[in-house]
Amino acid sequence: MSEDEIMGAMYQRFPVTVERGEGARVWDASGKEYLDFMGGYGVALVGHRNARVTEAIREQAGRIVTVHGSLYSGVRAAFLERLVSLAPDGLARAHLNNSGAESVEAAIKMARKFTRRPRVVAMRGSYHGKSMGALSLTFNPKYRRPFEPLVEGVEFVPFGDAEALREAVTDDVGMVIVEPIQGESGIHVAPGGFLRAAREACDAHGAVLAFDEIQAGLGRTGRMWACDHDAVAPDILCLAKGIAGGVPMGVTLARPEILDSMAKGEHSSTFGGNALSCAAGSATLEALTADGLVDNAAAVGRGLFAGLAELAGRHPSIREVRGRGLMVGIELRFDVREIIMGGIEQGVLLLYSGRNILRLLPPLVIGGADVARVLGVLDGLLSEEEARRGIA
Ligand SMILES: *Cc1c(COP(=O)(O)O)cnc(C)c1O
Repeated sequence: MSEDEIMGAMYQRFPVTVERGEGARVWDASGKEYLDFMGGYGVALVGHRNARVTEAIREQAGRIVTVHGSLYSGVRAAFLERLVSLAPDGLARAHLNNSGAESVEAAIKMARKFTRRPRVVAMRGSYHGKSMGALSLTFNPKYRRPFEPLVEGVEFVPFGDAEALREAVTDDVGMVIVEPIQGESGIHVAPGGFLRAAREACDAHGAVLAFDEIQAGLGRTGRMWACDHDAVAPDILCLAKGIAGGVPMGVTLARPEILDSMAKGEHSSTFGGNALSCAAGSATLEALTADGLVDNAAAVGRGLFAGLAELAGRHPSIREVRGRGLMVGIELRFDVREIIMGGIEQGVLLLYSGRNILRLLPPLVIGGADVARVLGVLDGLLSEEEARRGIA
């Protein structure tokens, strides 16, 4: 039986069988090379087979893989210390788990325990994961409807509408959750002042402000945290995707009084904080800082946005280019599937974000030549598609 048959139809799939990777490149079974601007949905943050991460995994696997949270681990302690030292102001506590959705689940429980309030305010267009709690905060009705009833008490307000947010945050709201840049709904950057307004509304009513930086955090936007661009710190920060170089890991960072409101046994994760993912996590943070990957994301991102602005000037099919650093959305006038298939043919992996939006989430190790390559391929594919569709 094929992978498709056994896994069913839950994933939208493309015809590439990936065998190995290095930096911003992957190779298929026949040896064909692809420039990877899909980046495993952002998981390949520090590049495939990053030397630091590979060495850390190898060494840790030779020592011990699993150490449960009820025992101490030097590898875990070192990772936690490093992570907290990089975290936004005040986030001195961390719960370790295994995925983005789990880091959101922990945020929901911590905010509810700390505030004892039932309601949550989330954003239209949000994506926080697909487990039942995280799904309750995820906006897209296509994901939610078949699985209702979900967790009660969630209200969605328009992303970027400070007035609507102020109105929604009342004294029975326990948590407001925001992605500083919405990833899955098409790369929408929070308008200036919006995160600040969320901070003020939460402070005025004693609600917890949670940022979901599972996709936008850890240098992706050219700053360590996406919220750094607005100089606003949350009370809870959800992380996952690239934090352990591709080894599964989620983290829920929190202010001390919030995490400390949880009593023994009220939340836990068997795999969370295992030695292998913590070793990979430390190596990933080392790569981000010591190898200058955050600055590289900023610099290379500038070149990418300049190139895309130039393309947008020549291609009527480009409606808008959005994002920050190496988190980029290109909204087109048509379905992007043909462009993605064309990219695959020419050895470039691209990602979608909704029907007509291309998303670029390359590893932060890319250079100017990779950007030039991807711009060239896009230029050609857009010209072809515009000609085919009679768009002038
Ligand atoms: C990917 C993602 C999630 C969910 O992460 P999983 O590991 O797939 O559960 C949640 N929020 C954001 C912003 C994401 O990009």
